[in-house]
Amino acid sequence: MGEVRKLIEDPTFPNGWPVKETHIDHQLKWKDGVSKEYGVHGSAVGVDFDICIADGICITVCPVNVFDRMELPGEQEKMDKGITNDSGKAPLATWKADPARENDCIFCRACEIQCPVQAIKITEP
Ligand code: SF4
Repeated sequence: MGEVRKLIEDPTFPNGWPVKETHIDHQLKWKDGVSKEYGVHGSAVGVDFDICIADGICITVCPVNVFDRMELPGEQEKMDKGITNDSGKAPLATWKADPARENDCIFCRACEIQCPVQAIKITEP
């Protein structure tokens, strides 16, 4: 099992995490020594793809449709073999919850509260 960690408990996110690239209209952040494979999409709505298990509750509860499913086919092998990610759990599907419209966030924190592996951190500007 990999190291179990939670983005929401990292006080250095988002301002202490370097920007690796821009994805659609949000940033992909990567912190050496913490990020392992995918990094974190979004800043105000940060989703740590190395923790996300794709259970989809954030997509269900978000009142303003911030998230899109981003397919990552490489996750299939982890599902087949039960390989865990940084959440300590194996992914449930081959996508991650991409905060494609984080600028629409109204900071209700429903996703942050409901995420079962604490992969999401909401930061009001
Ligand atoms: S905090 Fe609320 S509005 Fe913002 S992404 Fe999460 S569920 Fe959507």
